[in-house]
Amino acid sequence: MPAMVEPTGAEALSQQLAEMEAALRSAPDQGALERLRIDYLGRNGALRRQLRSLGAMEAEARRSVGALLNNAQQRLTQALEERRSELDAVVQAQRLAGEREDLSLPGRGQGSGALHPVTQVLERIESLFTSMGFRIAQGPEIEDEEHNFTALNMPPDHPARAMHDTFYLSAKQLLRTHTSPVQIRVLRNEKPPLRVICPGRVYRRDFDISHTPVFHQVEGLWVDSSVNFMELKGVMSDFFRAFFAREKLPVRFRPSYFPFTEPSAEIDIGCLLCSGEGCRSCAHSGWLEVAGCGMVHPAVFGHCGLDAEAYNGFAFGMGVERLSMLHYGIGDLRQLYENDLRFLRQLAWGVQ
Ligand SMILES: [Zn+2]
Repeated sequence: MPAMVEPTGAEALSQQLAEMEAALRSAPDQGALERLRIDYLGRNGALRRQLRSLGAMEAEARRSVGALLNNAQQRLTQALEERRSELDAVVQAQRLAGEREDLSLPGRGQGSGALHPVTQVLERIESLFTSMGFRIAQGPEIEDEEHNFTALNMPPDHPARAMHDTFYLSAKQLLRTHTSPVQIRVLRNEKPPLRVICPGRVYRRDFDISHTPVFHQVEGLWVDSSVNFMELKGVMSDFFRAFFAREKLPVRFRPSYFPFTEPSAEIDIGCLLCSGEGCRSCAHSGWLEVAGCGMVHPAVFGHCGLDAEAYNGFAFGMGVERLSMLHYGIGDLRQLYENDLRFLRQLAWGVQ
């Protein structure tokens, strides 16, 4: 920065003022320009100091130096303003370059939400059963042992209890391991004839490729004075053929055991992938297990205060995740709950 020294003459002063103007015009950035402004044009800047020194001069010198300084003040101010707007333009250009948008990129759009695939399957199951005259019944997820086991013909020492991998909240309270306790609540509170399905969350201490600690079941119950196994077969066959939208889907009933039904059966459908020829998905059997069912055990009616001679009925239960996997062709159940949007979006409109 050229320091201002006492002028030795108008020429030297002119020279210095010209240097100052040049310095202003070439200030490298806004900060440097501001420092020069303070040094030259500020309240204690070079120009002011020079003006203050006029008083000590002779009249003639004062006039000519005064005119020089006035002129210099105008020129320096103009130089300052011009350089400032140049530097502003540079800064603006840099900012715009940094913010430049590629206008050819597609917009983000407004993605539309969709129901989770399990919810979609659940709603499909509900709508198919309600179209067959079933009503939806709900029950609590925190149950007691009596509803979850004992009333379903599983007394405290029953081995089936051990297979349920139950989450106990206290000695008597637990997270329901199946939706079957809702059957008990319905049978105790309502008089047959009744036709209900009980969809909902159930809990078991299990986690692997085909189990999650929380999953969904749909329980079904049809009780009247004369319901038979033929009707059970008819309802279940119709349901699975409608659910998988295959009119000729083979459905078979394989004898099985559940404490709360007698006789009991597992329901298999013809493999959806190989049409019964055998593939990896059906363990080369040609069949896929999809549900359990049976005629309501007389002991269950007894626990609900109903006369087992006057009423009979059937019950069934199915896993919603299991049906979702078969419907969508998903190999690993856990994918349904990893919340990977890329995965979920593929299934968003799968069921309508
Ligand atoms: Zn198969």
